[in-house]
Amino acid sequence: MISFERSDQKTVTRRFMSFEDVAMKDIIEREARAIFQTYTRQPLVIVRGSGARVWDSNGREYIDFVAGIAVNNVGHCHPMVVDAIKKQCELLIHTSNLYYTENQVVLAEELKSLTGMDKVFFCNSGTESVEAAIKLVRKATGRYEMVAATGSFHGRTMGSLGLTYKSNYREPFRPLNEAAFVPYNDAEALKSAVKRSTAGVILETVQGEAGVYVASNEYLRAARDICDDNGALLIFDEVQTGFGRTGRWFGKDHSGIMPDVMTLAKAIAGGLPMGAMLASESVSSCFQRGDHASTFGGGPLVCAAAIASITAIKNEKLVKRSEDMGSYLISKLRELPVRTRGLGLMVGVDIEGDARSAVDMARERGILLNSTGDRTLRLVPPLVVTEAEIDRVVDVLGEIL
Ligand code: PLP
Repeated sequence: MISFERSDQKTVTRRFMSFEDVAMKDIIEREARAIFQTYTRQPLVIVRGSGARVWDSNGREYIDFVAGIAVNNVGHCHPMVVDAIKKQCELLIHTSNLYYTENQVVLAEELKSLTGMDKVFFCNSGTESVEAAIKLVRKATGRYEMVAATGSFHGRTMGSLGLTYKSNYREPFRPLNEAAFVPYNDAEALKSAVKRSTAGVILETVQGEAGVYVASNEYLRAARDICDDNGALLIFDEVQTGFGRTGRWFGKDHSGIMPDVMTLAKAIAGGLPMGAMLASESVSSCFQRGDHASTFGGGPLVCAAAIASITAIKNEKLVKRSEDMGSYLISKLRELPVRTRGLGLMVGVDIEGDARSAVDMARERGILLNSTGDRTLRLVPPLVVTEAEIDRVVDVLGEIL
């Protein structure tokens, strides 16, 4: 039985419900009083998750096509991740990077082998991985100018914000070190923008927040060449595209192009907060002791969760499953009056009507969706999603469209 501590300290339980709705309203009201109002939240209190499903405080079940925004790749509360967390937290939850832990080394070796990069720096989120990348390319090149793409999203802290395209995100926080923004997938525009003064070019292999736009292999090849010609470093931000999301381990694997620096987060640790910045040997060697640090980065608990999550992706062949289920999802969506695009289980859907209303209507029918624009839905379900769940979501989309 779930219980809610109310602000008046009385405990409201499901025994008294229809108090369920009262309890939800209570949480929503208390949130408004206690928490910065920086999020547009949906009126839903989520209490439990398993696989591609979550349950709200009223016990109502939803198929989750948001997955914590491309975080829950192995599904909610994957038993291997839960088990690894339970075991590790009885041994050691936190120590510091003043000491060694085996989990951190094992995970770094695994990430090296999966990505083909040489060195790993652990942090706690996507934006932190981008901050680390910015510092690294600045130190490695001795330059500070950055080039990014229109539509890009790289985070909200003061360095990564300068690389994030939407000007209304940046505007209130100027001055920032802002990138030169060039149209995505336009090699000529990139060529004109990258100079001998450019420190780094940062690209998502598939743009997520923009509404799921896939970089062509030719574009990524051109970006590699343009950087090499100018002594600039190429950063692939794979925070959203990592860990099987696109039907390959990483978005870059569709093209075979290797960046100098990669950023990872979101799905890396099966739902726990973690980020990582990876680089080739020649670039990473410029970071020396004291150049960067994080108290929590690469802690034993999150590393244990990440190792378990990666093992689950391998055991359950979720990368291939993402490719197969992604094709299935796109084929089903083609039956609807929508435009779709994407790779694997990272799918953008342009609809005729208002995307935010579609999200509300879907939620009322037991489906969680996310909109990235007025007319665009982003579908990023757990990679464990079944054909039956996809069928149900497409049926509901058909109804509400
Ligand atoms: N980079 C990309 C491509 C992202 O999609 C995101 C988040 O959506 C970030 C960076 C920032 O990650 P975080 O929210 O963990 O800071």
